[in-house]
Amino acid sequence: MSHVFPRHCHSDLPTAVRGDGCFLVDAQGKRYFDGSGGAAVSCLGHSNARVASAIKDQVDRLAFAHTGFFTSDPAEELADLLIANAPGDLDRVYFVSGGSEAVESAIKLARQYYVEVGQPQRRHLIARRQSYHGNTLGALAAGGNEWRREQFSPLLVDVSHISPCYEYAERQPDETVEAYGARVADELEQEILRLGPDTVMAFMAEPVVGATLGAVPAVAGYFKRIREICDRYGVLLILDEVMCGMGRTGHLFACNADQVAPDILCIAKGLGAGYQPIGAMLSSRKIYDAIRDGSGFFQHGHTYLGHPVAAAAALAVVRELLDNDLPARVAERSADFAGMLHARFGQNPHVGDIRGRGFFWGIEFVADRDSKTPFDARLGLAGKLKKAAFAEGLVCYPMPGTRDGKSGDHVLLAPPFVASDDELAGAMDSLARAVTTVLEQVE
Ligand code: PLP
Repeated sequence: MSHVFPRHCHSDLPTAVRGDGCFLVDAQGKRYFDGSGGAAVSCLGHSNARVASAIKDQVDRLAFAHTGFFTSDPAEELADLLIANAPGDLDRVYFVSGGSEAVESAIKLARQYYVEVGQPQRRHLIARRQSYHGNTLGALAAGGNEWRREQFSPLLVDVSHISPCYEYAERQPDETVEAYGARVADELEQEILRLGPDTVMAFMAEPVVGATLGAVPAVAGYFKRIREICDRYGVLLILDEVMCGMGRTGHLFACNADQVAPDILCIAKGLGAGYQPIGAMLSSRKIYDAIRDGSGFFQHGHTYLGHPVAAAAALAVVRELLDNDLPARVAERSADFAGMLHARFGQNPHVGDIRGRGFFWGIEFVADRDSKTPFDARLGLAGKLKKAAFAEGLVCYPMPGTRDGKSGDHVLLAPPFVASDDELAGAMDSLARAVTTVLEQVE
């Protein structure tokens, strides 16, 4: 509760008063290394002068102009920059205020596209289990995380969920990686056929699954096969890079590593890097053209679409990422990051898997390494790890429900791209101490 209504509940959370590089400082002066960027947000750390000054300049010039009447320079320049670097033929950008709004926009755009092109029977969305796409009702329906959905299920539209691509837990011992990827990708085709191919509008997935699985990339070839299946049945591919996009995995857009381009792409988090709330939906030309040549109006909108100050902040963030080649730097440093994780945690009998890409890594904890059996959910391992790491001065992102939405625990690490090697090593030490403390409690 305190997380939701801090004042109303007389929260006992510390008050954050200052950001200093990769650290947050509370009112008592305690420093916390931001090892997860909150939830993969703060890719540039907390005191980037270029972004701060872009925000101030923009407020001084123009704070707000409603997109029903105006566009603005920062929104147009940011759109140009994203499009110039985007995969495939994504060439229109719709700016919103966060990840859930980007996902809602994508679902509605997919639906409206099929209405505009005369196929209104296409209304089914397919997504994956153990995925998270946001907390508003459409995004929650798309997500496959039972723990978050459970009490709201009567309010959610019907979305089909197929298996995630989660090699560690679900590949059979006698199955090759390639066969496993093909098997789970083919579930999409089976579901399309079950629903009726001309009734399916879109498939949605995170290229690297963040909050629910803890930085799980798909195996090689999976997304290429998904793209082929979507093309075969005229199903739009929506990739949700709200968490894994914007350089986090060592590419500006995570799907570049999988060599696929979606029809619609959602980004947020790292786009504003925490300096302003902003998200975006990138759309392919064919979708935009169909609506422009049809009704001429995307039936959607929010008051703060394309907010000039948020766009100015994001423009400075993206320039900072590109001018300093930060996605490529993240890719180069990824192996060292993984090496540190394996050195600290690889021998721990309760660490089942260490996986990820770039500066986006997850550690999955298990009661038994050989059988991969998760800890009993009632132990609340993830919650205990969060608390213990925080006491050590480390913000990381532990979550329960890795396996089936209820059991299974992982810790997600997503530090700022500007963190030094020493800072990363310090964060590993803090996490190692927290892990030891918690495992001693539960063993
Ligand atoms: N999609 C993904 C993959 C996410 O990880 C999140 C948030 O964690 C969202 C969507 C929702 O974003 P927001 O919390 O900004 O609404």
